[in-house]
Amino acid sequence: MEIKILELMDTKAKFILSDAKPEIANALRRCLMAEVPKMAIEGVEFHLGPIRDEEGNEYESVSPLFDEIVAHRLGLVPIPTDPDLYTYKEKCSCGGEGCPNCTIMYSLNKKGPSEVYSGDLEPLGGPELRVKDELIPIVKLGPGQAILVYASAQLGVAKKHAKWQVTSGVGYKYFPKVAINHAKCDMGDACIKACPRGVIGKKDGKTVIVDPEACILCMACEEACVTKAIKVDSDKSKFVFEFETDGSLSAQNTLLKALEILENKFEEFKELVSTLES
Ligand SMILES: [Zn+2]
Repeated sequence: MEIKILELMDTKAKFILSDAKPEIANALRRCLMAEVPKMAIEGVEFHLGPIRDEEGNEYESVSPLFDEIVAHRLGLVPIPTDPDLYTYKEKCSCGGEGCPNCTIMYSLNKKGPSEVYSGDLEPLGGPELRVKDELIPIVKLGPGQAILVYASAQLGVAKKHAKWQVTSGVGYKYFPKVAINHAKCDMGDACIKACPRGVIGKKDGKTVIVDPEACILCMACEEACVTKAIKVDSDKSKFVFEFETDGSLSAQNTLLKALEILENKFEEFKELVSTLES
């Protein structure tokens, strides 16, 4: 199995997975979607009773939304995660009480009239724990309303709840193989016009493949070609893979983590099989 990166941005990756089988590509897809761990807010404590500001003005600790909805929205905010730093709370040496190895604490203190955004979450720790997406709306406070909460984030996987899902738009396609039989080609433009992705073009008056990787295997060129000179096929051992992350982990770290998880799973499976009696 080999991976060649085509595009690697902070939250997006596109790569070619070659020398692999469809089941391996699918295992990687499922692992990226459901098993890469990240931090997400799991516990939210709401302050009850009046809230006072520095000038002594009193606010009521209410908002137009139920506390449960506010807590749910906070849970969905992507929390920056260092994949090698945190451990699962239930497996942590603190015994699940919460410590810097398994928990990130945030406070949220806002008074109305105002709009509360994800960027209002103040980490109790370094600035690297600040939420990157600062403009996710949480709730709109009216005059005299205020919100004061303490939220704790912990590590989890999307198999348990979608708020721990790092990736979105995870998908792959077979690597396309487009070939033009020049003996049959009538040099017409029909295939070039039919292709929605600009795979085919003209070079020195000849119809040629200009961007083979852009092909989405839609077969429009094959259908448009009256002389049947174009053949679209796919390589069943090569995949064009892509995914995006929500920003909690970089695309690079997400891919590395998914491959590490897969490797561990296969190792574990191998060991289990070896203990079977023949
Ligand atoms: Zn701990």
